[in-house]
Amino acid sequence: MANDASTVFDLVILGGGSGGYAAALRAAQLGLDVALIEKDKLGGTCLHRGCIPTKALLHAGEVADSAREGAEFGVKTSFEGIEMAGVHKYKDGVVSGLHKGLQGLVASRKVTYVEGSGYLSSPTSVDVNGQRFEGRHILLATGSVPKSLPGLEIDGDRIISSDHALQLDRVPKSAVVLGGGVIGVEFASAWTSFGTEVTVVEGLKHLVPAEDENSSKLLERAFRKRGIKSNLGTFFERAEYTQDGVKVVLADGKEFEAEVLLVAIGRGPVSQGLGYEEAGVAIDRGFVQVDEYCRTSVPTVSAVGDLIPTLQLAHVGFAEGILVAERLAGLNPVPIDYDGVPRVTYCNPEVASVGLSEEKAKERYGADKVVTLKYNLAGNGRSKILKTTGEVKLVQVRDGAVVGVHMVGDRMGEQVGEAQLIYNWEALPSEVAQLIHAHPTQTETLGEAHLALAGKPLHSHD
Ligand SMILES: Cc1cc2nc3c(=O)[nH]c(=O)nc-3n(C[C@H](O)[C@H](O)[C@H](O)COP(=O)(O)OP(=O)(O)OC[C@H]3O[C@@H](n4cnc5c(N)ncnc54)[C@H](O)[C@@H]3O)c2cc1C
Repeated sequence: MANDASTVFDLVILGGGSGGYAAALRAAQLGLDVALIEKDKLGGTCLHRGCIPTKALLHAGEVADSAREGAEFGVKTSFEGIEMAGVHKYKDGVVSGLHKGLQGLVASRKVTYVEGSGYLSSPTSVDVNGQRFEGRHILLATGSVPKSLPGLEIDGDRIISSDHALQLDRVPKSAVVLGGGVIGVEFASAWTSFGTEVTVVEGLKHLVPAEDENSSKLLERAFRKRGIKSNLGTFFERAEYTQDGVKVVLADGKEFEAEVLLVAIGRGPVSQGLGYEEAGVAIDRGFVQVDEYCRTSVPTVSAVGDLIPTLQLAHVGFAEGILVAERLAGLNPVPIDYDGVPRVTYCNPEVASVGLSEEKAKERYGADKVVTLKYNLAGNGRSKILKTTGEVKLVQVRDGAVVGVHMVGDRMGEQVGEAQLIYNWEALPSEVAQLIHAHPTQTETLGEAHLALAGKPLHSHD
């Protein structure tokens, strides 16, 4: 339903991914009249091409690893192979169940859902299929798509993006993953579990370079043990087709051949050709510029999610969407503390963190004001049972609060909930040490680390 002359929506949202739909749900809950415009599928990247399908692949990989490793636990199992059709059926089942649920939720909140490609025709309107949707406010939430490099053409067959990797009908014998960030290492991990021989090529010095260096090094070691090769610190120069695959050539002349090349060098915002600049919305390197309330340079237009230069995470999109909805409904939401956003990389082993790395804490507070502590998972009963290795590293302002928690190990992603409370409530090590952690759990590693930082280590050396 486009508005007739008498109706103007309170909020017209362009893009139905994490940022857009969260804004729609919250705004409708707060009594606003909302139109949500989506050209593809409600749920966007996260649900259809991102968080959910990748985690399903990783879980299938975990099942494969368990089958291989049964004998280590005295269980008779054998790994007979991966049937990709079955993996896709499982993954797509998860996605379609969540998709149906989300469609029901949007309908139940009385959001006007519009299918089609939208164009910002003025600071207060979006055009879709020749119809105009007027809004007192507009929210831009058109998200992002995989990036490539000049001269590196993604053909969808041998040179692929994460979108293609999620649809691959076979387990490649070998793969080069270009980019050792979150998306790259997650695919490297899942494919290795499936039986692919993987080499990760990362131009920077470390895998997951946005993490504390200690976590990167632990992951690199764990990947080496799993047989995943990494080539770090040299940039990509070009890719060439070979008889039956791809050859990747680096700036130092080193070459790697594989059946497929996954380009995972990051994602770029979808902001071109949509009328944004014509309407006066300021854009820098493709990203829509916003203040801490997600307001653009045009008073009636806000923007959220991967389209703006904040962390490209689904839960950041949710939070920004909710922030905009609450601001427009007249509530007084506080700006987001982006350092306090939990970050999880779901490879095996998992990498999770919240707050500042040691390096950033030293920049902010001064090197002599920062204290760190590492607790090795080797001292934890549950970690031993799971046969996982890793560490919890805490970063503290001397005599003050914990400002960074960095964790590597199986199931450590799930511990980020407690870590985020510690960071966001500015907890002192002694306060966390006071809390009793269940034994034997992986969450106990956080308790033990804080006991040690508070000067009373239990299952660790002084
Ligand atoms: C492989 C992969 C794994 C990921 N894993 C995780 C994870 O584990 N955890 C996590 O937090 N994040 C993860 N992410 C990131 C997460 O998916 C994104 O941060 C999130 O989806 C961003 O939400 P968004 O609403 O900004 O954009 P999107 O989800 O990209 O949604 C934008 C929507 O806008 C629509 N659109 C675009 N242009 C128009 C138009 N002109 N008219 C109408 N509609 C339009 C698109 O069709 C799309 O549905 C992952 C991403 C990828 C690629």
